[in-house]
Amino acid sequence: ASEVQDDYLKELNPPQREGVVNTEGPTMLIAGAGSGKTRVLTYRIAHLMKFHKVDPFNIMALTFTNKAAREMRERIEGVVGGEAKNLYMGTFHSVFARILRAEASKLGYSSNFTIYDTDDSKTLIKQIVKEQGLDDKLYKPNVVLNRISAAKNRLISWRDYINNPVFTEDDASNMRPEMGKLYQTYALRCYKADAMDFDDLLFNTNVLLQEHTEVLNKYQQRFHYLLIDEFQDTNISQYQIAKKLAAVRENICVVGDDAQSIYAFRGADIQNILNFERDYPDLKVIKLEQNYRSTKTIVNAANSVINRNTAQLKKNVWTDNEDGDLIELIKATSDNEEGKLIASSIFETKMQSQAKNNDFAILYRTNSQSRAMEEALRRNNLKYRVVGGLSFYQRKEIKDLIAYLRFIVNPNDEQAMRRSINLPKRGIGPGTVEKLVVASAEHGKSLWDIMDNAQFYISGRGGKQVEEYVSLIKSFRLTAEKKDAYDCAAQVAKNTGILKELYADKTIEGMSRYENVQELLNAIKEFTDDPERTDKSLSAFLQEVTLLTDEDRNADPEEAITLMTIHMAKGLEFNYVYIVGLEEELFPSQMMLSSRADLEEERRLFYVAITRAKKKLHLSYALNRYRFGRLKACEPSRFLEEVDPQFIKVNKKFSSTAPLSSADSYVTKNFVNNLKKDRSNRKFASAPQHQPSADFKPSDTSKLAEGMLVEHPKFGFGKVTVIDAEGANKKARVDFEKAGEKTLLLSFAKLRIV
Ligand code: ATP
Ligand code: MG
Repeated sequence: ASEVQDDYLKELNPPQREGVVNTEGPTMLIAGAGSGKTRVLTYRIAHLMKFHKVDPFNIMALTFTNKAAREMRERIEGVVGGEAKNLYMGTFHSVFARILRAEASKLGYSSNFTIYDTDDSKTLIKQIVKEQGLDDKLYKPNVVLNRISAAKNRLISWRDYINNPVFTEDDASNMRPEMGKLYQTYALRCYKADAMDFDDLLFNTNVLLQEHTEVLNKYQQRFHYLLIDEFQDTNISQYQIAKKLAAVRENICVVGDDAQSIYAFRGADIQNILNFERDYPDLKVIKLEQNYRSTKTIVNAANSVINRNTAQLKKNVWTDNEDGDLIELIKATSDNEEGKLIASSIFETKMQSQAKNNDFAILYRTNSQSRAMEEALRRNNLKYRVVGGLSFYQRKEIKDLIAYLRFIVNPNDEQAMRRSINLPKRGIGPGTVEKLVVASAEHGKSLWDIMDNAQFYISGRGGKQVEEYVSLIKSFRLTAEKKDAYDCAAQVAKNTGILKELYADKTIEGMSRYENVQELLNAIKEFTDDPERTDKSLSAFLQEVTLLTDEDRNADPEEAITLMTIHMAKGLEFNYVYIVGLEEELFPSQMMLSSRADLEEERRLFYVAITRAKKKLHLSYALNRYRFGRLKACEPSRFLEEVDPQFIKVNKKFSSTAPLSSADSYVTKNFVNNLKKDRSNRKFASAPQHQPSADFKPSDTSKLAEGMLVEHPKFGFGKVTVIDAEGANKKARVDFEKAGEKTLLLSFAKLRIV
C-alpha cells in the first residue's frame, strides 16, 4: 500500500502496526498487559479517520471505563484534531444508555428514565424481600441481585427464568424457590419507576435490536467500524449487541487479555474469545508480548503471580525496560495506620523523585476502604480524588449532618446555618433566613445574636421557629462542651430527627442515605477511639473534615492522587501504585474463596493491580481493621506470598513497629516467615470473637440506645442502628456482624450491652 508514513505509525512495533493498518474485516488481538493493545485500538481509529477518511460518526468504540474512553479520545484528537469529538465512544453502558434514551419509547420507557446504581438495586430488593415476607438471610440483596444479574446477562427475562431449569433447579437446591418471583417483581417495579439498572441497559438494548428490525438496520447502517477494548470482560449480552451491530460489514476489532479477565462474577465470559474465532472464520489474530509499561521487576513479579493460575492461554510477557526498584511491602497495625504510612510514603516519594500527585494511585478491593485513605491524605495535605462513587464526604446527607456540627462549633458559620436550619423541615423558609441575615447587617450584630432573639426581629411564626432551632443548637453546644465528638454527633443525628427522617424514607435513595449517616458516625467513633488523640472534641474532628471538603472542592483533577477499586483501574497506568488492604477475606475477598475458579479470578485481579504500575509498586496490609464499627484482627493475604520474594523488600520506615513485626529491616529472606507469623498471631487473637460469651447475661435493655454494641446469644455481636417505639413495643434494629440486620422486640430479645 502507498502509505503516508505518518508519525503515529512510527510509534508502533511491527505486529502493532499490522493491527493498525489492516482496518477491514474481523480482527482479534489477545496480548499481555501493557503490550500496547489499547494503543493499537487508538491508532487504528486515528488511521481510519486520517488515512481512510472515515467519518467519525461511523465509528463506535467501546471501552471499559469512561476514563479510558476520554484518554483514547484525547490521543486520537492529537492525531486527527477536533473531529474526534464525533466518535461514538464510551463504555457499553454509557453508549447504549444513549441509544436507549433515543429509542426509549419503543420499549415503553420515557427518554429520561432513571438509571439505578447497584446500591439502589440492592435497596429495592431488600424492600421487596421484606414486603413478600421472605427470609432475608436466604434472600440477601447481594445474592438476589447477582442471580437477576446473571440471568439478564445471559439474556434471560423473568418470564424465561421461571421456566429455565438451570436457574430454577439451582434455586430449589439452595432453598430459594421464590427467586423467579423476586426477579419478576423487581423487574416490574423498575419498569414502573421508569428506571433501568445497569444490566437492563444491555438487556434492553438486546431487546431493542432483536425486536425492532428498523432500529437494528438504522444502527447497522450507521456504524461501519466497531472496536472493543478489554474484550475478555464482555458478557454474553454485550457480545450479542456487538455481533448484531457488526453483522453486515463485519468490521469488528476486539482486543483483550484473558489473564486480566476479572468480571466473571458479573457474567463476563472468556468463552467469548473462543466464540469469536468460531463466529468469524476469516478472523485475523495478532499477538503482542513486549510490555512497554513497567520495569522488569514489576513485569516479572506479575508473571510470577499469574503463572499460578491453571486456566490461562500461554503467553510470554517480557520487557526491555530497566530493572527498576524492588516492590516495597508496608505493614500497619490498623487501617488508619495503613493510611498514614501510605500518605507518608507518597509524600516522601514526591520529594525524592519530584513526582506529582497524579503520578500516584491507591488501589483497593472494595470502595469502603477509601475512607481511611482519604482521611490520611487529607491530614497530609495531599490532593486526591475518588474515582467511581462520590467521595464520601461529598454526599448530601453527610454534608447535611456536618453542617449541623459546624454550626454547633461556630455560631457564625452562615453557610452551615443555611444548610441546617430547615433540616429536617421545620417550616423555616428562605425568606426568614434572609431576614435574619439582613437584620444582622442592619443592627451590626452577629447572626447568632439576631437568631437568639429572633422573635424580636421577625414577627409571627418564623421568629418562633428560629428560636426553637436555636435552643436545639444550644443543647448540642452543652453536649459538645462536656462530651466527645462521637457523643455529640450521635445526639445531633438523633435529636434533630435526621436519622428518623432518613429511616422513614423508604425510597431507594433514602435507605442508602441512612446507611451513609451511620457510616459517618462510625468514622467519628473511630476518631474518638484513637488512643493517640488527646483532643477528641467535636471541633477537633471538624477541623479535619472541613479541610477535606475544601481540599476536595478545589482539587484540580489533573493534580490529584487517584483512589479507586482495582476493577476501575483496568487499562490504566500510573508511575507509582499502592495496592492496599492485602489481607485474607478482604483480598482475596471472602466471597471468592469457595472455588478454584473464583480464587483464580481474584488472582487475575491482583495481576491487573500489579500491572498498573510503571515505575514502582507498593503493597500494604493491616493487622487490624474496622469493620461494622469494631476493630477486627486480619491476616496477611496469601497473594503476598505468591509474589516471587526476590522482587520484594519490607519497607521498615513505612511499616509499623508493632511487636508482631520483625526487628530487622528489609527482611527479604524472612519475608514469607514473617507473613506466616502474622497469620498465626492473628488466629490466636481473633479466635474467640464469634463464640458467644460463656458468661452471657442479658442486660437491662431499657437503656439501650442507637449506636450501642450488643451481643445476642444466637446472632452474635452487632450494633444497634435504630430504636423504635416505646414500652412493650420497643424495638431495636441491630446490624449483626454475621447474621445481618434484625429487628428485635426488646421485651423478648435477650441482648447483652457490650
Ligand atoms: P492493558 O493490558 O493494561 O490494557 P495495553 O496492552 O492496552 O495494557 P497500552 O496501555 O496500550 O497497553 O500500552 C502500555 C504503555 O506502553 C502505554 O504507556 C503505551 O503508550 C506504551 N506503548 C505501547 N506500545 C508502545 C510502543 N510501540 N512504543 C513505545 N511505547 C509503547
Ligand atoms: Mg489496555
